[in-house]
Amino acid sequence: MQKVRRIFWGLVLTMTLLLALNFSWTHAALAWLISKPQCPAKLVSQARSDVAALYGSVRSSPLWVCATKPLLGLDISHGTTRSALFLPSIIVIGIKGPRRNVMAHEYSHAELAARAGARYALIPTWFDEGLAMQVDFRRAYTQRALKRYLSRKGVKKPRLDDLASSFRFYKRGDARLHYAFANCVVKNWLRSQGNKQPLGLINDMDWQKPFPLGVFRKFEQRCLKT
Ligand SMILES: [Zn+2]
Repeated sequence: MQKVRRIFWGLVLTMTLLLALNFSWTHAALAWLISKPQCPAKLVSQARSDVAALYGSVRSSPLWVCATKPLLGLDISHGTTRSALFLPSIIVIGIKGPRRNVMAHEYSHAELAARAGARYALIPTWFDEGLAMQVDFRRAYTQRALKRYLSRKGVKKPRLDDLASSFRFYKRGDARLHYAFANCVVKNWLRSQGNKQPLGLINDMDWQKPFPLGVFRKFEQRCLKT
C-alpha cells in the first residue's frame, strides 16, 4: 500500500514539475479546458489534408481552441501552437485565425513537434516556421513580399544563424521579413529535392548530429538575392 502511495505521489510530483516547466502549454491546456469546442470542422479537416500533403501523412492529433475573446489572459490574434513532450499540442486560434492558411500553418507546427519528439528542441525556429509557411499562402509572406521587405532602406539582411532562436525570429518589426525569408529558404530546399516530404531530415536528426544548416546555405544566399 505504501509503495502504491509513493508511486502515486511520485507521478503527481513529476507531472506538476513538467507542467510548471512548460507554462505556455499548461496555459493553453487550461484555456482548452474552459473553452467550448467551436473550431469549424471543415477548416480543421482542410488544414489536416494540407499537412498530410506536406508530410506525407498526419501523425499528430492536436487539441483545438477557437477563441473569440481572450481566455485566461491568453490573447491571440491569429494562432499559436503550444507543444509538450508526450502530450498533444494545443492549437489556439484567435479572432482573426479561423482561416485555412492560419489553421494549416499551426497544424504543421503540431505535426513537426509530434514527429520530432524531444528533438523538436534542436530544430531552428526558421525551419519550423518555413515549413509551416508551405501550407500558408498569405500574401504578406510570399517571395514578392520578401523582395519588397529586402528593398527597404536600411533593412538588416536576415541570416539563418540569427534566426534559430524564437526570440530573434519573432522580433517586433522584423517578423514578417523573417517569415517570408524562412518560407523562401524552405521552399527552395524542398524544390531542390523534387518536393519530397521533409521527413528524411527530421528522421535523421539526433542529439549527436547538429541540424544540417550547411544544406540550406545556397538557398539562404539565393533568397537574399530575391
Ligand atoms: Zn508559425
